[in-house]
Amino acid sequence: MSDVLAGYGLVKKYGPTTALAGAEVAVRAGELLAIMGPSGSGKSTLLHVLAGVIRPDDGRVMLGEERIDRLGENRLSALRRDRFGFVFQSGQLLPELPAEENVALPLMLSGMRRRDAVARARRWFGPLGLDGLERRRPGQLSGGQAQRVAIARALVVEPDVVFADEPTGALDQATGEEVIRLLTTVSRSLGSALVMVTHDAGVAAHCDRIVQVRDGHIVDEWHPAAAAARNGATR
Ligand code: ADP
Repeated sequence: MSDVLAGYGLVKKYGPTTALAGAEVAVRAGELLAIMGPSGSGKSTLLHVLAGVIRPDDGRVMLGEERIDRLGENRLSALRRDRFGFVFQSGQLLPELPAEENVALPLMLSGMRRRDAVARARRWFGPLGLDGLERRRPGQLSGGQAQRVAIARALVVEPDVVFADEPTGALDQATGEEVIRLLTTVSRSLGSALVMVTHDAGVAAHCDRIVQVRDGHIVDEWHPAAAAARNGATR
């Protein structure tokens, strides 16, 4: 299968700190990739460079056949809006908007009429276990519910790639497990690739492949399902 997203020779420095030191990673279409590694190793920077949020000092980022790290800000933000979805540690929903309008927002920003966008957004509430919560504001949702709304918002545009930075970091174990199960299931059903930073091996195990980052490089990678099969584990 072809690569949907790839970074080559990525370098990013902050003053004397080297966050990325020539990192290389390629994500296949529809692949679920977890990025793990110690704190400060460059995971978040790598995710944000791949997502076109941070520009690398050197190297290049390819979205399919298109080089995106040198695009102008307008083109880059249109591309982030239309082809990427984002899930952060805690939802970052707009507090004054009902859940369904938070989900509809990326569609409206892409020019869809409000009524159509909200209708499309509502279809996500059932599959994500959010039936009946469409009109709630984020402050009236539990942490797990808010994170599922954030997943709906990330996936409503049917993105090529979903980026998730510690998406379960603010949730308890059971709620985090449920959120990650939904995020990976829905990404798979849409055929969206997932690039997810996590420090939780249990969360990463839901992905197809795990890469290990250290000192701004990828130093190892493995396939959790294959590793589990080798160890005789049942999943
Ligand atoms: P991780 O996600 O693995 O914890 P980061 O990518 O956040 O690592 O950071 C990698 C290194 O770059 C760290 O040393 C961090 O302190 C530094 N860094 C990240 N962002 C900035 C920034 N905006 N300004 C200065 N230093 C930064």
